[in-house]
Amino acid sequence: MSKPRILIVEDNIDNYELVRFLLERAGYDTFWAHSGREGIDMSKAKRPDLILMDLSLPEMDGWTATERIKADLETKHIPIIALTAHTLPGDRKRALEAGCDDYLSKPMNIELFTETVEKNLARAKHKRKSGPII
Ligand code: MN
Repeated sequence: MSKPRILIVEDNIDNYELVRFLLERAGYDTFWAHSGREGIDMSKAKRPDLILMDLSLPEMDGWTATERIKADLETKHIPIIALTAHTLPGDRKRALEAGCDDYLSKPMNIELFTETVEKNLARAKHKRKSGPII
């Protein structure tokens, strides 16, 4: 079976390196987008199984990029996990309203990070199997 492929949308290299390390250690393939705009382009070009979305990003923020990815029929099925230092009470709600499927705050709890990635990949796989064929 091929490895799940995960797109990391993150503008901070230290955060990116940590996330990539954790994902590759868990056996996933990763791609890196540095901005919201590039995140949209790569979600279409690479068709990842999951997207980890930072919210504060150059060019276009993560909320807007998420809305665009979820509004596009080609990419709307891809689960998106917001990964962000925005931990004010309204931020989680705003991320979910933009279309994010889940939410993780920085600094990361590594165990929770791994669990959340696995859970969202499993949920998406189940949906694909049981969903209508269009
Ligand atoms: Mn950022």
